[in-house]
Amino acid sequence: MITTLESWALFALVLFQTLVYSGSWFHFQPKLADERKALLNWTVFMALTSAALMLSLLRDDGRLWLPVVGTNLLSLLAFIAMKRGFEHFILRRPNDAEHLWVAVIASALILYAGPSPEMDFLRKSVSYASAIWLTARSMQIMYLPLTREFGMRIAATALVPGTLLVLYFLTLLIFFGGLQWQISRLGGSLIVPLLLSYMLISGLMNYTVNHLLSRRLLAQLDAKARRDHLTGLFNRMAFEEITLHEWHRHQRTGAGFAYLALDIDHFKSVNDTYGHHSGDIVLAETAARITGAVRRIDVAARVGGEEFSVLLPDTGLEEAMVVAERIRLAIHSEPFMLGDTSLAITISGGIALANAEDASVADTASRADTALYAAKSQGRNRICHSPN
Ligand code: GH3
Ligand code: MG
Ligand code: MG
Repeated sequence: MITTLESWALFALVLFQTLVYSGSWFHFQPKLADERKALLNWTVFMALTSAALMLSLLRDDGRLWLPVVGTNLLSLLAFIAMKRGFEHFILRRPNDAEHLWVAVIASALILYAGPSPEMDFLRKSVSYASAIWLTARSMQIMYLPLTREFGMRIAATALVPGTLLVLYFLTLLIFFGGLQWQISRLGGSLIVPLLLSYMLISGLMNYTVNHLLSRRLLAQLDAKARRDHLTGLFNRMAFEEITLHEWHRHQRTGAGFAYLALDIDHFKSVNDTYGHHSGDIVLAETAARITGAVRRIDVAARVGGEEFSVLLPDTGLEEAMVVAERIRLAIHSEPFMLGDTSLAITISGGIALANAEDASVADTASRADTALYAAKSQGRNRICHSPN
């Protein structure tokens, strides 16, 4: 029972906080299709927590079933929704079999205990223990996936609010539950620190989830911005970043690399004869054949309309020629199919190796382009290299 004005104010704040969280998770879910199920479960988590808090306000000395037992049942369901949200967040199917047996056993015991004060210890113990179980299990299943996605430091930090929550309920279990010490007489004066800790922990937990979500979205956005939409290859921006990085490595360690510039031959006539859409299909198929022909260490990109580039790290001229020829043959040796129409496509290429005269990677790229123009003027469907 809440008696003082300060406790009431604090209680109202906690309630306001959980309602705001519930509303904000719900507000975001239509905009984030991939995270929708997680956000909906967290909406339910915070909404049920708010409902449990409100029900507990109705408590009086009459010890009615609904406020006393209802609070515990609602928070049990709230914690199940929390765990389900985390499971969706790490792309795992919720373990509803586990949730069902936790819900059945815990609610059976809570209902058995009922609202009578003599059974408080059982009802509270079951309620706190199930919250501990569901929180600890959430953390256990999340640690590895979070480490894989965000790294060890962030994964470990993300588990701090869960750990605090477990400690919080462990404290409640010891003071007010079946393990109660004689301190339970202090119950009345403990309400303020308890509410404050709860507010802090739930704030921390919602903040952490927000943080993970933002990081995930930024990483997705970044990955998307680096890809060419039509072919799925890296785009020019990403390729320039990657080659610049390779250039710095070359400057520092002397590791050589080859730069291969590719351009589809007479591509304009594909567009003119079969239409732009068919041209797009040829571009995507060309990209797929390039990807299939390069080695795992090579980086292929679409750097212009029908222009592609490949960075070949730690590669000499002979080896670069082998890879470039493999690409040329992958495109030349098998006709492209546009429905029933078969189309002979060829590609020309120019290779340059980074050398001591290059002032920047742009010089290497420019020499590869010159070699490409030589291949074009020598009749196309061939690979030329820059004299080193
Ligand atoms: P060359 O053998 O000298 O390279 O001749 P080409 O016809 O391949 O070269 P050109 O530069 O004259 O034409 C390139 C064409 O690529 C013109 C442009 O319409 C087309 N193109 C550029 N981007 C796209 C695209 O995204 N989709 C399609 N379908 N066509 C594109
Ligand atoms: Mg071109
Ligand atoms: Mg061309």
